[in-house]
Amino acid sequence: MAPSRRAIAKRLRNVAILERTAAQLAELCRHANDLLREARAAGHHDDLVEGMGQAMLEEVLSAKHALDTELRRWAPVCLRCERNVHWVAGAGCDAGHWAHADRRRRITDLSW
Ligand SMILES: [Zn+2]
Repeated sequence: MAPSRRAIAKRLRNVAILERTAAQLAELCRHANDLLREARAAGHHDDLVEGMGQAMLEEVLSAKHALDTELRRWAPVCLRCERNVHWVAGAGCDAGHWAHADRRRRITDLSW
């Protein structure tokens, strides 16, 4: 049975929330990186300030990794061309993005 319009609308809202969170985590990650770089430039090496900056960066990266893993479970359909898309995790602090599925590889896990 095809999913109802209401179910599809709910999934689209959920994806939008996850995408927004991914963008926010990427920004937080950049801030944490900047903070750590500035702390080091100000002479904080192997001290509490550097340790806290490093811990913050690691926490943000860990949250970003968990979110990328969640988004990879989704296989939505492109609203423009109706091909399947999949989530590509960003390296380091970069935000991930959706990419069209490889035509040669069929995605069988359609959770829609
Ligand atoms: Zn498309």
